[in-house]
Amino acid sequence: MRLYPKLLISYLVVVIIGLAVIIASTTFVAPRNFAHRMEMMMESEEHEPGQGQRHGMMNGPPTDEEINQRFRDALNESLIWGGGAAIGAALLISAFVAWRITQPVKAMAAASDRIASGHYEERLATHQHDEIGELVHSFNQMAAALQSTETMRRQLIADVAHELKTPLTTIVGTMEGLQDGVIPNTPATFELVHQEANRLRRLVLDLQELSRVEGGKMAFNLQPHLPAELVKFATDRLTPQFTDKDIALTVSLPANLPAIYADLERTGQVLINLLGNALQYTPSGGQVEIFAESLDRQVRFAVRDSGVGLTPDDCEKIFQRFYRVDKSRARASGGSGIGLTIARHLVESQGGHLWATSDGLGKGSTFFFTLPTENFTKSS
Ligand code: ADP
Repeated sequence: MRLYPKLLISYLVVVIIGLAVIIASTTFVAPRNFAHRMEMMMESEEHEPGQGQRHGMMNGPPTDEEINQRFRDALNESLIWGGGAAIGAALLISAFVAWRITQPVKAMAAASDRIASGHYEERLATHQHDEIGELVHSFNQMAAALQSTETMRRQLIADVAHELKTPLTTIVGTMEGLQDGVIPNTPATFELVHQEANRLRRLVLDLQELSRVEGGKMAFNLQPHLPAELVKFATDRLTPQFTDKDIALTVSLPANLPAIYADLERTGQVLINLLGNALQYTPSGGQVEIFAESLDRQVRFAVRDSGVGLTPDDCEKIFQRFYRVDKSRARASGGSGIGLTIARHLVESQGGHLWATSDGLGKGSTFFFTLPTENFTKSS
């Protein structure tokens, strides 16, 4: 039951119990009390005839005034006892209701303190199905979200440290070797240091970009663009590299595709990233194809390659930060493992989705992304 009717009913119960106790005391206790007082009065008259004056009575049968007085005394006494009992019952019920409300609130306050001091695993148990139960449930959800953010933060620091360590170790080791004369002072040595320094720079730039896109601080200039415009933006920049590696790049777009609402540069960056990966993970002589189709109020783009392919598990994991299927190979190519994480954020920030499918290892992979054909910010 909800808290609102619960409270109303509990107040009503308090009032009803009070009334019931008072009615019971006037119905059952007051008449007996009155009868007892009348008996006492009669007895004292029998034992001490003529002494009635002491009890405020005249000699002879009791007058109406005396009977009224006894009645009022009896009623007042039972009302005092009845009222006391009613207050006692009301106090008990109110204390129980107040305890039921304040106990989880106090537990939540204590749990918040523990969470604030770093115990993110703190959770509260509840069997209540009212607003208090809902509050406890929301509290637990918040604690779980905080715990996962904290885990991600720690993981991110560990990952960044790990990513920085490899190129830094190479640079430091090479420089020490040069100083000691163990490594020859050749252009190849300087090229190696240069490459590692470049990798560090790219990693830092990627991290900066990731932090901006994850923090929602990136401004998107959403304008209508024809899908062909977007595809040209990316292919113009990468076609020479496809030719160099002898990979056939084909584009097949239907003629009547509607315009998408997107930031050309940022979406172009996504497509460049997907094409760059397709280029990297497809051996020479392979094919990469870009195609698109119009769906309900969106256009779905796809980049399909005939490359190394992905396992079903990796199809989702590759969107996690720093995740690389073949670590040594991806690192050797300078990949930071953040490209797809950024790409997914960029697409989602514009109202679309990005995902990957593959028929398995060695069978190529396809990356899909959708973009709306209406202004996402206006409709959302
Ligand atoms: P990276 O900079 O390492 O390429 P990404 O985030 O772009 O980082 O990609 C993450 C990982 O996903 C890559 O290391 C690679 O293992 C896998 N991957 C991405 N694109 C493809 C593809 N077209 N075919 C097979 N594996 C891919």
